[in-house]
Amino acid sequence: MCTSLAACFPAGTAKTKKAAWQDRSLDTGPDVRIRLIRKAYFSQASIQWDNADVLLTDEKGHAIPLPAGAKKGYFRIRGEQVAVAFQRTPAELKKAKRYQKVWIRTQDNSVRRFKIHIPEQQVLREYDAKGFHLSVKYGRMAVINVIPLERYLAQVIPEEMDPEHFTLEALKAQAVVARTWALKNMKRHDRYEYDFCDGPHCQVYKGRKKVSSRAERAVKMTLGEVVTYQQRLAEAFYHSTCGGNTVFVNEVWAGQRIPYLARVEDHWQEGNRPYCAQSPYAHWRVLTSLRRVERVLQHLKYLAKKERLLNVQVFFLNRSGRVKRVCLTTDKKSFTMTSVEFRNVLNQELGKRKLLSNFYDISVDGSQFLITGNGLGHGVGMCQWGARGMAQHGFSYRQILQHYFRGTELGYAYGSEAPAPFSRSTTQNSQADAK
Ligand SMILES: [Zn+2]
Ligand SMILES: [Zn+2]
Repeated sequence: MCTSLAACFPAGTAKTKKAAWQDRSLDTGPDVRIRLIRKAYFSQASIQWDNADVLLTDEKGHAIPLPAGAKKGYFRIRGEQVAVAFQRTPAELKKAKRYQKVWIRTQDNSVRRFKIHIPEQQVLREYDAKGFHLSVKYGRMAVINVIPLERYLAQVIPEEMDPEHFTLEALKAQAVVARTWALKNMKRHDRYEYDFCDGPHCQVYKGRKKVSSRAERAVKMTLGEVVTYQQRLAEAFYHSTCGGNTVFVNEVWAGQRIPYLARVEDHWQEGNRPYCAQSPYAHWRVLTSLRRVERVLQHLKYLAKKERLLNVQVFFLNRSGRVKRVCLTTDKKSFTMTSVEFRNVLNQELGKRKLLSNFYDISVDGSQFLITGNGLGHGVGMCQWGARGMAQHGFSYRQILQHYFRGTELGYAYGSEAPAPFSRSTTQNSQADAK
């Protein structure tokens, strides 16, 4: 396990910084292993490599013979093994050899484009990869894509932040945050021999589905840059829209306070609109009736069958202004509920119109039950729509990151002139860098 960045990225692996960001290659950084479509079951996949010379090996590194000119492999589960064929004829499939693991890689270890077809999930996608690992895990086929971190980031960003509607400096801030998160959480699924899944549990990744030149540019311009605190990688959390101020991390997840994950007022000065005011989630409201909430509470046994719900109020706010407990009054009793319990109750009634955050107020007017809220997400760390607003106000990505992660510094994990542990980012104007 890496105890410091110096150990993770020894000086020898640092690349020499190019003069201009245009010359930087996305095929930089440590390789990451991403398991594709982990949540869905499938038992077969085909992988096509039109423009790549590939090698196939088994779990011991022995070559799997590849017919001359083969450009596609068919892989399917047979018992706990992967059967490999290069044509889909019944005869070929029948005599397909089986392996514990199949590793596909490009001969020169370069990144190439592959096409993957997973018929059971109706998935046909293109992926950039140095190769793939295939195996069977708990009766499911596992397809793991191996790709350098920087190229992965360039394809993750468009899933998190629309490159066409977010200013470049906001995309650069997102690139630094996503990189920091990835390096900090590397080997998250190592038990199952990969680093990240491709869903929201890690970061959403769908290969070349949303390739964006602006996202690639944001990654290249910040290549290797990370948020650090006391010479180590920071916990770089982010969320969609804070709605006015971010929150202390320990108010969302139990644990120690982290100095740079504290409440930040998301505006230039008191009285100004928050930076994230243009977010479609800046303000929201949910309207239902007291009777419907009452029915759910009865169904979930919080209330007796004929007990009437009379009122619901916010009972306790945390220091970041988020609802911590609500108080419910019936014709028989008063009781309180945590905001998590309350959200679970309401979700039963509201379905998709659920509460977007814990930043809200409740009003009961006669039989009407109205919740007015702000923001989307947990509120910890960088507010993405706030980053967009700051960038529109002319702030650089460095200033954006300093705003949300107070007391942190930017450094290079790799790719800088001066190697590990962390060379300070230069203070050159990012606009100049863009030219
Ligand atoms: Zn995951
Ligand atoms: Zn915000």
